[in-house]
Amino acid sequence: MSLIEPHGGKLIDRELRGAEREALLQAAGKMPSLTVNTRAEADLELIASGALSPLEGFMTEADYVSVRDDRHLANGLVWTIPVTLSATEEEASKLHAGDDVALRSRDGRLMAVLQLAEIFKYERQLEAERVYRTTEEKHPGVKAIYAQGDYLLGGRVSYIESPKRAEFAPYRYSPRRLRALFAERGWRSVVAFQTRNPVHRAHEYIQKCALETVDGLLLHPLVGETKADDIPAPVRMRAYEVIIEHYYPVARTQLAVLPAAMRYAGPREAVFHSIIRQNYGCSHFIVGRDHAGVGNYYGTYDAQRIFGDFAPGELKITPMFFDNTFFCRKCDGMASLKTCPHDSDQHVSLSGTKVREMLARGEAPPSEFTRPEVASVLIAALSSYN
Ligand SMILES: [Zn+2]
Repeated sequence: MSLIEPHGGKLIDRELRGAEREALLQAAGKMPSLTVNTRAEADLELIASGALSPLEGFMTEADYVSVRDDRHLANGLVWTIPVTLSATEEEASKLHAGDDVALRSRDGRLMAVLQLAEIFKYERQLEAERVYRTTEEKHPGVKAIYAQGDYLLGGRVSYIESPKRAEFAPYRYSPRRLRALFAERGWRSVVAFQTRNPVHRAHEYIQKCALETVDGLLLHPLVGETKADDIPAPVRMRAYEVIIEHYYPVARTQLAVLPAAMRYAGPREAVFHSIIRQNYGCSHFIVGRDHAGVGNYYGTYDAQRIFGDFAPGELKITPMFFDNTFFCRKCDGMASLKTCPHDSDQHVSLSGTKVREMLARGEAPPSEFTRPEVASVLIAALSSYN
């Protein structure tokens, strides 16, 4: 038995190396150039490494429309989130289908070359409504669409920039490297945990419940662009380092970063996140309450229910659904709404806002809620902002 196959059967690799890379680097100077936003930068890195397999670039219109309206690529594979590159009218007017376009970061680094196959117009509101189920601009994912240019550029990309970036360097594993690592350790089944939040006992409990049934645990915090009020990635990573050191079986736990931007698309993003983890070699994926949600846009269990919309076998990775978990004084241990029969006054639960207030005051939440080692990391970080 070997690891789960990538989505679509083949791990994509769009990263240029050696002479090919040198040649394109030279040629890029004469190409028309486009500056991309932070989200597109993150998408480029993911496409290049194969994390978005089978995508080889930014979506053309057929894929875009099919994903938006039908949650499948034009070739029939499940895909729930448009991965697109936008351009303003002025930028698009200088480009033609068939061009090679140099894609640059906002600080001017040459990141990749786009083999521009198609320039097409799209309807922002329709994308917002179908993908995010709302057209309200206060939704951060919708806001990002409204801020984009009027055109989308589709085509394959060739990645030039070395993705070995300094930030979180020891944890920046490509799907290929993680797969090799899992194989080396003899893990056949691996469960991934997606997070953009600091780790509390509730998360630890879910992760360990899942690990009871598989060979390995991949803690895979998202470190791309998030909302301004989410806890910064370096702090979340430090919290994971200390909790692993003190409470996790090191031989069965792997920490790595996912350099993706959050879309906050709730259910559709839960499926997107699971496909990405399949590409990283994971057989199972944890989906909690309101996965990738924001505000009250999605129902508590929508991100779990969406998996039932697809035919058996359409998704190879197995989702593992979890309910709200907490420490129960009467159970004298961690439990969930599913497993604990006691009243909520026995449960140690605190709202996110309440926890933040406590931490900002330098006060550690109860140890039934947050490990003291993690509380110290969060207190140090939050007090340094104030
Ligand atoms: Zn209980």
